[in-house]
Amino acid sequence: MYKTSNEFIEKLVTKTPGEIEFHQAVKEVVHSIWDHVQENPEYLHANILDRIVEPERTIIFRVPWLDDNGNIQVNRGYRIEFNSAIGPYKGGLRFHPSVNLGILKFLGFEQIFKNSLTTISMGGGKGGSDFDPKGKSSEEVMKFCQSFMTELQRHIGPYTDVPAGDIGVGAREIGYMFGQYKKIRNEFTGVLTGKGLNWGGSLIRPEATGYGTVYFAEEMLNKKNDSFKGKIVAISGSGNVAQYAAEKVNQLGGKVVSLSDSSGTIFDKDGINDEKLKYVFDLKNNQRGRIKEYSNKFKSEYLDGKKPWNIKCDIALPCATQNEINKSDAENLIKNGCFCIAEGANMPSNNDAVDVYLKNKILFGPGKAANAGGVAVSGLEMSQNSIFSSWSRDEVDLKLSKIMKNIHSQCIEFGSENNYINYVKGANIAGFIKVADSMLDQGVV
Ligand code: NDP
Repeated sequence: MYKTSNEFIEKLVTKTPGEIEFHQAVKEVVHSIWDHVQENPEYLHANILDRIVEPERTIIFRVPWLDDNGNIQVNRGYRIEFNSAIGPYKGGLRFHPSVNLGILKFLGFEQIFKNSLTTISMGGGKGGSDFDPKGKSSEEVMKFCQSFMTELQRHIGPYTDVPAGDIGVGAREIGYMFGQYKKIRNEFTGVLTGKGLNWGGSLIRPEATGYGTVYFAEEMLNKKNDSFKGKIVAISGSGNVAQYAAEKVNQLGGKVVSLSDSSGTIFDKDGINDEKLKYVFDLKNNQRGRIKEYSNKFKSEYLDGKKPWNIKCDIALPCATQNEINKSDAENLIKNGCFCIAEGANMPSNNDAVDVYLKNKILFGPGKAANAGGVAVSGLEMSQNSIFSSWSRDEVDLKLSKIMKNIHSQCIEFGSENNYINYVKGANIAGFIKVADSMLDQGVV
């Protein structure tokens, strides 16, 4: 039995050395659910905390492939099957050179609570590889994806584990992996989500994470009798989540003034309107270019090597990657008037930055609540696959917005404290209860 949450974390750190991002994610969750766990002896008796931080299964494998020059390359593949208490493992695949065990365990751990919040039956998982799709030809990407799936297919299935996309894994990669799964297993099933519309994909899946993040932020604003209308919005990233977050902000009457990639930030004080955004979609998804090219085309400012957090804004939507907002970024945002932050990315704010938001009592939607729209529509894709049917764009969009409203309500139920809604606490407790109670029901497995 642990006396304090710090004692629990210390043991975890000793047991999982070097998994920094994983420690960070666990720390955030455990600190906010600690009192709730202590007040419920059945969780203590069943040792739920020790069990929930241990993945049910971790698979690590070699991914050899042949590059265009005929050289053999080797990457490392992973799948973390973290928790299946409430459904088959579900979570994305990330292809990025920074990928390691600690990063994927943090993402898999977050996914458990996020999936629980959606109210759809999905357990938590995550996977990927240190493969970098940037600068590779499409043939190389295909060969890598095929080799990756040659091993992964042994471990996944529509009722076991259903991966999706994440950083570096979009429609192209999902297509190559689905093709290889089908060839080896000789079955056409909903084993991946984010599929193409012609072969089992769902309308609104590409839009879901970005749209969902904005729906969640709009809920937070509505609760304060406010909205996106006329607000200045800083967005980081320029990939899938950032693009559709920007599109939805424009639709709701906000003005998006920034996008970024790992090389720098574009700052367009006139606003990235729909026409300019169309250029970004083409630049990033078809030409696979750098965001800097936007500033050449539209004569806007380019902040080389910088993140958007010094830009004056009302609302910030970090949609790039983990730990992109540190303490001083958070302080800058608030100093410049930002009063609402919703995380499109996973854990983009480090724990110090989150402390700054909570201390200043701004509206803060953590990733596991605010970006759950992506996995929610993945869940809807699985439902459509299982009934061999497909729903219209409006139907899926309506379901998505209802799910985001419901997640917001759950956060209020468990996170309200003295005229302030602590969405971090609310999301963690609400997400935890369903999973922990299911673990209790299913015995020691
Ligand atoms: P994409 O690969 O489509 O885009 C990622 C964007 O983030 C790119 O602009 C990329 O720039 C930038 N980026 C990546 N790494 C870094 C870095 N180290 N520093 C600065 N910028 C970086 O990924 P997604 O849009 O799908 O994912 C973005 C975030 O959203 C991730 O945190 C992901 O886990 C999260 N998320 C995604 C979901 C989805 O459905 N896709 C669902 C829920 C969460 P560059 O091109 O230079 O690398």
